[in-house]
Amino acid sequence: MAGEFDLIARYFSWPAHSDSVNLSVGDDAALLDISPNHQLTVSVDTLVPGVHFPVDTSPYDIGHKALSVNVSDIAAMGGEPRWFTLALTLPTYDTAWLEGFSAGLRAAAESYGVDLIGGDTTRGPQTISIQIMGETPVSQALRRSAGQMGDILYTTATTGDAAAGLAIYLEQLSELSAPQQYCLDRLNRPTARVAESRVIRDYANACIDVSDGLLQDLSHILKVSDCGATIYTDQIKFSPALKPLYNHQQCLSFALTGGDDYELLFSVPQVKSKAFEQAMQQSGYTYQAIGKLTANSGLIRDRQGNPLTATGFQHF
Ligand code: ADP
Ligand code: MG
Repeated sequence: MAGEFDLIARYFSWPAHSDSVNLSVGDDAALLDISPNHQLTVSVDTLVPGVHFPVDTSPYDIGHKALSVNVSDIAAMGGEPRWFTLALTLPTYDTAWLEGFSAGLRAAAESYGVDLIGGDTTRGPQTISIQIMGETPVSQALRRSAGQMGDILYTTATTGDAAAGLAIYLEQLSELSAPQQYCLDRLNRPTARVAESRVIRDYANACIDVSDGLLQDLSHILKVSDCGATIYTDQIKFSPALKPLYNHQQCLSFALTGGDDYELLFSVPQVKSKAFEQAMQQSGYTYQAIGKLTANSGLIRDRQGNPLTATGFQHF
């Protein structure tokens, strides 16, 4: 049996975990209960082959990544990811692709505890759009505009691995070393920092997820928070995988301008920074202080005052 409804039933209908889902895939629309004292938090992201992932990325990784990059936006708001819809455009009914994609999507959905509650399926050039819905405790959302002069800038974990992964992929090597494979995995299977975000939202002012490059994403915070920033380029740490692969300058360039890491970049008031760092350490989450917010200039500088330019990824 083939056809649109068979495809949906086979690959995109699985039982909802959450009691909040009254009605899921199969009716004209889904019905959801929202928790009291929470705000519905909504975002959508589209993945296009060759733009958002290399064309030969495994269908499993595509499914996993499509959901992760969306969940990352909810984490960047300090929200809890809850539900998602999937708008899928495919050129053919390719069962091998659908099986891999659906398995990756479902594994990611289970790891983040989110339910697939509907979607749309059409024929055409491949695109994958996911709309994510989450809930944020009222007045706790982490807005880009809430940065304050003097705040310490942090990222979760390290940045630069995914950009290195793309460079490694483009070399088309016949064999990859363990650190090279690690970087490629960071590109193909990013982790949305949902757990970290639960700690961060209790301390941070502004927050954004790093999808287009640290400096470029930072510049979005600076613009709407009316601040400048100093970045401690001399003390930024790289992952143990990235460090041996490139020289310091190349690592720094990946870390500051490379996209696709999906780490959180956020600002914490200086008076709260000690308590914040203790809370992160207690939970076993890695983070690093990478600089601070300064007086309004819109500019990003290093400690010596040299301007750092934000040339991350832009579609147009
Ligand atoms: P309608 O014609 O009323 O818009 P559709 O035929 O598009 O309904 O979809 C039928 C049901 O299947 C709906 O509940 C819709 O949300 C769901 N659905 C369609 N495509 C997908 C998909 N790719 N993933 C999950 N659910 C889907
Ligand atoms: Mg429809």
